[in-house]
Formats: sequence, C-alpha cells, structure tokens
Amino acid sequence: MTEMIKQHLIDPEICIRCHTCEEACPIGAITHDDVNVVVDADKCNFCMICIAPCPTGSIDNWRLVSAPYALSEQLGWTELPPQQEHGNGASPATIEALDSEIAALLAEAHKGTGGRAKAPASASKPTVNLHPLGHPIQATIQGNYRLTAEHADSDVRHIILDLGATAFPVLEGQSVGIIPPGADAKGKPHLPRLYSVSSPRDGERPNTNNLSLTVKREPDGVCSAYLCDLRKGDRVTLTGPFGATFLMPNDPQAKIVMVCTGTGSAPFRAFTMRRQRTMPEVKGALTLYFGARSPESLPYFGPLTKVPDMFLAKAFAFSRAANEAKVYVQDRIRGDAPRLAPLLRDPSTHIYICGLKAMEAGVESAFADVAQHAGLDWQSTREAMREAGRYHVETY
Ligand code: FAD
Repeated sequence: MTEMIKQHLIDPEICIRCHTCEEACPIGAITHDDVNVVVDADKCNFCMICIAPCPTGSIDNWRLVSAPYALSEQLGWTELPPQQEHGNGASPATIEALDSEIAALLAEAHKGTGGRAKAPASASKPTVNLHPLGHPIQATIQGNYRLTAEHADSDVRHIILDLGATAFPVLEGQSVGIIPPGADAKGKPHLPRLYSVSSPRDGERPNTNNLSLTVKREPDGVCSAYLCDLRKGDRVTLTGPFGATFLMPNDPQAKIVMVCTGTGSAPFRAFTMRRQRTMPEVKGALTLYFGARSPESLPYFGPLTKVPDMFLAKAFAFSRAANEAKVYVQDRIRGDAPRLAPLLRDPSTHIYICGLKAMEAGVESAFADVAQHAGLDWQSTREAMREAGRYHVETY
C-alpha cells in the first residue's frame, strides 16, 4: 500500500511574492526564484510559523501526495496541481487522519495572528468618511504584485495594505482615498485620488485587518505611479472609506450582473469573494462581463477562470487579442441577450457597471438592445431599476 504524506504548498495564483513567509520561516524551508515562492518538502517541519504573517492566504495550501513535488517542479507552476486521486493505495482512514491533521495545524496557526486588529464584523450600512482629509490614517504596504504580463501594454498592480490596529471598516464597492506625497505645480499638497477596494469586508485574507487595491499606472499619473512603485513596508496615507451606493445587495437571492473593463474589476473581485466566502452554495446568481485588450492585460484572469461557471457566469471580451477580431463588453452583452432578457425582467436583478467613462455609452446601448429583445422599454426599465437601487454605474 502506498504511503501518503502531507505536503505544504503555496498557490502561485494568489501569492503576491512579498516573501513574508520566507522571512518568517526559521529553518530556510521557503525559497523563491524570479517567478514563484516555494516550500522545500525535505526541510519543512510543519512548524506553521509562516502561516499567520501571509497577507493573502496563498500559504494555506496542502496536498496529500505519494511523492512530494520537487522544488524544480513547483518553480515552474502557474497554478497548483489538483489533489491527487486518493486511490493511490492509501486507506481512507489514513487520508482522513492526514486531512484532520492538516486542519488542526492550520487552526493552531491561525490562532497566532499576532497583535493585528481583526476585521470589523460585517455591516450592512457603509461607514463613510471615517477618516477625512484632515484626519488621514497610515497603512503599511504588505505587498505589491504586478497582475498584467511583463510584456502587456498596461501595468496593473494588486497592492495589499495592512491597516494595523486602526479601525477602517469597508464594504465591497467602497473606495479609499490615497494622498500621494509632495506638492502640485502650485506648491499645494496633492489631493487624494480614489481607488476601489478589491477585497471583501473581512479582509484580503479572511479576518485580517487588511485590504487590497487594483491600481493601473497612468502615464505621468502622480498617484498611480506612486502606488505602483511602493514596496513592502512602505507607509501610505489613506482617507475614507467613501461611497454609499455602489454596494452589494444584502438579499442572498439577488442576482448580480457585473460589467467592467480594466481596474473596474476591483469592486467585482470584492463582490465575488464576498459571495464565495458567505454563500458558496448559491448557483447562477453572478454574471460578469469583463473587457480588456488581451488576456495578458486582464487583471485576475487566471483565478477568475477557476471560479466555476455555475457560481459565476463570465464572458471575456478582448479588443486586441492576437489574430482575433476585436470584441468589446457590449458585444458580449448583445450576444447574451437570450440569457439576459429574463434577468432584466427579474425584480431581484442588480446591474453594476464599473470602469472607464468611455465604456458607459456602448454598454447602455447594448442593454437597450437586450431590453428590446425582451420586449421592454430600456429607458423606463433602467429608471425603475435606478429608483429601486438596482442599477449602479461607477466610471472614471
Ligand atoms: P493624475 O496625476 O491625476 O493625472 C491624471 C491623468 O492626466 C493621467 O493620465 C496623466 O497622464 C494626465 N496628466 C497628468 N498631468 C498632465 C499634463 N501636465 N498634461 C497632460 N496630461 C496630464 N484607478 C485605478 O487604477 N483603480 C481603481 O480601482 C480606481 N478606482 C476609482 C474609483 C473611483 C470612484 C474614481 C473616481 C476613480 C478611480 N480610479 C481608479 C482612478 C484614480 O482615482 C485616478 O484618477 C487615477 O489613478 C489617475 O490618478 P493619477 O494621480 O495617477 O493621475
């Protein structure tokens, strides 16, 4: 009978390469190259010291294996391999014992979250402007990871901010203000720029007082360049939270249709993660239309494709994919008219549009066509949805 052993692994799709785990490991079992951070199965003694400091939870991964994955294999991964079939000869009792051993180790490790404040309990009412311009707070950068391919034409970053012991309760769909250092051309301090929070209310990592942002570097942009260049340990000045309307419906039965381009995906990452954490069993309620120039420039493309279609129906639109015709989100919406028409008639449907201002007109006109397909008048349907708080647009 083949003996199964447990192997500690890091998910390359979630890891932001901040190397906090590597610094925490007392026996040098964690190492990295230019691409991945990996755990050496020959050295790892399951002391779990690396678990609590990880800002994302990418470290919370295990596989039961008959032979451990070598470092060279792990360094080549773009995603974690699936759990090997348990039919490798190990008895169900052995597998169960290893599974519960892992669960116990993780539970123990999570007890030691240090002096960090816990995320606030979930709130249905947004807190707005708790920290105004006159009373900003300081957060610490936990990691800054480039989401778009090196050769992609846009530099989009996943940036994680540790809020320490400061209360900063955010709901999915809210934004924060970032004050870049320095002064403008008139010598006045820079004004804050708004960035949507891309993590759910209980933190980038569950029950951690941290949050994530999805930031695109703008050419000559003061704040976006400042943020994109920040490094782990840097301090950043924060105001907010802001926004009281672009929020998720509390109704667990509500159907959510999300339309975005580029960093407009930030709030929808938060929406999706919130639903995944709180009601993973609800099927067919989330739909995402996501546009970018190419798969390489679409933030969170890999992890998104892993979310089952039953949970999140998704349609990607690429306007500059190699050897393919240009497709925009509005084309995908029109193509989905038979599916969207009943949703437009359903009083539990909420529509959210987020991204660049330029997308708004095309998306509106696509929904008008879908409404026509459904025998509905778009203007009055949209107005009724808006009145009922079911139609939300946030473009910038
Ligand atoms: P700025 O310095 O303000 O410049 C803005 C633009 O003007 C730049 O493209 C720059 O190239 C151009 N410019 C600057 N100086 C000159 C000049 N002298 N001549 C000509 N052009 C010039 N952004 C995100 O990346 N992610 C988000 O999640 C996000 N969420 C948002 C949510 C809301 C509600 C809003 C309102 C905005 C959001 N934004 C988001 C946009 C963000 O707030 C900033 O506007 C963006 O990052 C640009 O800020 P900046 O300081 O880098 O650019």
